[in-house]
Order: sequence, then structure tokens, then C-alpha cells
Amino acid sequence: MDPIHLTALAAILGEDSRVLTQPQVVERLSRDFYWYSPVLRKQLDGKVADVAVQPLSASEILGVLRYCHAHDLPVTVRGSGTGNYGQAVPLHGGVVLDLARMDRIDAIQPDGVAVCEPGVRLGVLENEARKAGWEMRCYPSTIVKASLGGFLGGGSGGVGSVAHGGLRDFGTVRMLEVVTMEGEPRLVRHQGEEVHDILHAWGTNGVITRIWLALTPAVEWSQCGVAFDNFDSAFDFSERIATDASWTKRLVTTFEWPIPSFFAPVRRYAPEDKALIFFLIASAECAALEAAARDAGGTVTYSGAYHGLRSTPLLSDYTWNHTTLWALKTDPAWTYLQCGFDPATVRDQFRQLKERFGDEILFHIEFMKNGSGQVIPGSIPLVYYTTEARLNEMIDYCRGIGVFVANPHVNNVEGGGRYRADNVQLLAKQRYDPKGLLNPGKMITFKPVDAAIEPAPIETVPTR
Ligand SMILES: Cc1cc2nc3c(=O)[nH]c(=O)nc-3n(C[C@H](O)[C@H](O)[C@H](O)COP(=O)(O)OP(=O)(O)OC[C@H]3O[C@@H](n4cnc5c(N)ncnc54)[C@H](O)[C@@H]3O)c2cc1C
Repeated sequence: MDPIHLTALAAILGEDSRVLTQPQVVERLSRDFYWYSPVLRKQLDGKVADVAVQPLSASEILGVLRYCHAHDLPVTVRGSGTGNYGQAVPLHGGVVLDLARMDRIDAIQPDGVAVCEPGVRLGVLENEARKAGWEMRCYPSTIVKASLGGFLGGGSGGVGSVAHGGLRDFGTVRMLEVVTMEGEPRLVRHQGEEVHDILHAWGTNGVITRIWLALTPAVEWSQCGVAFDNFDSAFDFSERIATDASWTKRLVTTFEWPIPSFFAPVRRYAPEDKALIFFLIASAECAALEAAARDAGGTVTYSGAYHGLRSTPLLSDYTWNHTTLWALKTDPAWTYLQCGFDPATVRDQFRQLKERFGDEILFHIEFMKNGSGQVIPGSIPLVYYTTEARLNEMIDYCRGIGVFVANPHVNNVEGGGRYRADNVQLLAKQRYDPKGLLNPGKMITFKPVDAAIEPAPIETVPTR
């Protein structure tokens, strides 16, 4: 990058030390966890920004974006870089806008809304919220490291979603403040339904600088592990608990054997050849849950109080996409899909997948509430990777039997399967980033601002 730009960026921030050019540092800040996908690994290895800058305020971001707009410099926003799809990997060099230092919690309001800067780590937010009698409605299993801005920009849900749905549901994100990428960047607010313009847009249509996030009253939780002789009976029991609103739960995760054998630190709670369920359940209901599990033929393998994120063991460390991490530690050929099974035909869908793919697919179920309030069997199944063609065959087969797939092996918003059919993210990009400088290459339906907006080819995006 032309040294003139570096000098100018340092002048905008008023500090050389927040303009980072050391190659190892810039390389580190250009990466995320895309390497969980063998497909993305090939595409994204070696993609690196020219410089990383660390603003401390929205007004510094306004200055950086004004400069980058004037000089056609791409800008990729970064929270903590724990995304899985190369969301924060700059495809065209330029500037990484590292927001880790904008990490203030301004308020936990009496109405249970947290007002935060984007760089706040979710674990810090959860701890502070609990001190005030609240907790996060949902969070990714990367809670300790991930940032709130990154969760909104690239995440979807996680622990808590069985009770409260995903980030996009039930007004969890109340309001956002966003900096636009224009000749004269603006600070705009999105409230109510308009937050969907920006949510899960991978930082392609604005830089989120302040967030109003709805919390939920804190619950005293316990952790519980239950083993069953086979996956079918484990699934039946977990589905029963997950879909019965009278249980107060934060996590219901079901693993087919041999997935539990990958969890080295908690292997003693995973009997050989058994399917396993991990629960976060209200402490007041834990004994009743254990009794119900025994009645259903299960064996309680672990039961213990939950003392927040420092609990040992912390069962959520084995759930959501952490499951894939434990598998990868065992054998780097494991990868994963993100699926939604149909509650009405889920058992049939399991059977068909097993008949077709055998142990190439291992079931890992995460129950979650959808936007209509129904608890459904979401899933992050493990997939034993051989070739891209075989992976795509599995994705196509899933879709063919009615299993929804959000493909984690594509590097654009549209192809991931969580793109909104109403195009609001694209419309916001047209308004806020007319030159297409924010995370370029990640919203593939974007066209120059005066071109007609066409519906996104959601169904037709090739899975590669
Ligand atoms: C082991 C593992 C488990 C995971 N489990 C889950 C899970 O349970 N649920 C889940 O949803 N995800 C999960 N993820 C993905 C990821 O950890 C989360 O989505 C996390 O919230 C991302 O936060 P981050 O700060 O690391 O974001 P980053 O990776 O830094 O960024 C993610 C995207 O958001 C954009 N972005 C970042 N900050 C802003 C901002 N201020 N304004 C606009 N855009 C911004 C970035 O440009 C990027 O496109 C998992 C990943 C791993 C590796």
C-alpha cells in the first residue's frame, strides 16, 4: 500500500500505533476460521489485507471510511475473527477495520436492553448482564472470544436459541447504529424491522458502531449429560424436552456415537458406543429432568452446577460448531454442514441420509426455536470429506429430501443460505456503499448503484 495512505490513516486516528503494518499481524487479522471448510481453505488461503487499523470511536470510523471512499480502498470490518466462512477475510487487500478496541458496554438498561459498542466480547457482556440480573438470549459457542458486532454481522444463534430463537428473531436486536461508506459517511440508526437490513450482511453494507440488544432475565442453570443406547432413543428424549415449553432450558444438544468419543476432556461422561445429550437446564428442574431421562432408558453421565463460563467442564464447549472443532482435532478430514430438519419427517430424513451416506454423515442436533415459535431440530452434522463433488452431492441430496442446508462452504452472503429473499441487505448496500468498497466480493448480487436491483438467485446459487 502506498505509504501516503498509511500516513493519512495514522493522522485520522491521531496515533501511529493503531495503524498496523507488520506482516504477521496483518496476516493474523486477515484470517478467521474458514479452514473448517476444505473448500474455503483452497479459495482463501493467502488472502491478506495491506493494513489493519484500530479505531476507538464512531467518529474515527467516519474519518477512515471517508478517506477510503475517496481513494477507493476496500475496507473489511473485523470483530474477533471467529467466523467460519471467511466472512472477515479481505478478498481484495485494503484495510482491515479491527474493532476489538471499541468494546465498551454503555449501559444495561432497567428494561433489560444492553447498549454496547461492537467490539465488546460476548463473554464480558454475558457476565456483566448476569450481575444485573439478566443474561443473553442466545450466544455462539465462541462466546468467550467472539464480539457482539461480529455476532450480528456474521452469526445466527447458538446456546439459548432453543428458548429464544436466533439473533434475528423476537426483536432481540432492538436497534443498530451504522456508519455508511459514502463520500460523506453518515451515522444512521436502524430500529425494529429495519435492523434486518444490516444483520448477517457480513459487514458489506455498513459498519455497526452501537448495538441495543435485548436480554432475558437470568436463570440459575445446571449442566447435565445423558447417554442412551442408540441415537433414535436419544433423539426422541431430547426432542421431547426441547419441544415441551414447560422445561426451562438453554441448550439441548444430541450427538450420535462416535461424536462423543472426540470430546477428549469430557470423555469420561461419554460411555462407549452410546448417543449423548448435553443439557443446560434450570437448576430447579434438573432432578426432574434426570428422573425423566432414567424413565426413558437413559443414563445420567454428568450432573453439575453451572458457574458461568468458567465452569469446568463447560458442556457448551462441545456444542454448536465447537463439535466440529473436536472432530477436526481427531481427524482433519471432518468437516460439517448446517441443516434444518423438518420436525414432521425428521426420522425419515435421518433414515434416508444414513441409507445413502452411512457414517460419512454423523448427526449432531441443536434444537432451536424458529421465528414462528416452533422448536425444530437444527443440526450441524459432521461430514467426512473426500471430494467437493461428494460434499455437493450430499448437500443436493439433503435439499432433495426437504432438509434445509445453509451451506458453510461458500464465501458470500447469498450462497450461505441465510440471505433474505426481500433483498433488504442488498438494498442497504446500494444506499450505504454505492462503490462496493465494504468487504468487496462477499455480496455477489451487488451491482453499481444505478443498475436495477434483481431478486437474489437464492435457489440457483451453485453450491460448488
Ligand atoms: C468453534 C466455533 C463455534 C462457533 N459456533 C457458533 C455458534 O454457535 N453460533 C453462531 O452463530 N456462530 C458460531 N460460530 C461463528 C462465529 O464464532 C460467530 O458467528 C461469532 O459471533 C462471530 O463473531 P466475531 O467477532 O468473531 O466476528 P468476525 O469473524 O470478526 O466477523 C464476522 C462477520 O461480521 C462482520 N463484522 C464484524 N464486526 C462488524 C461490525 N461492527 N459491523 C458490521 N459487520 C461486522 C465481519 O466483516 C464478518 O463478515 C462459531 C465459530 C467457531 C470457530
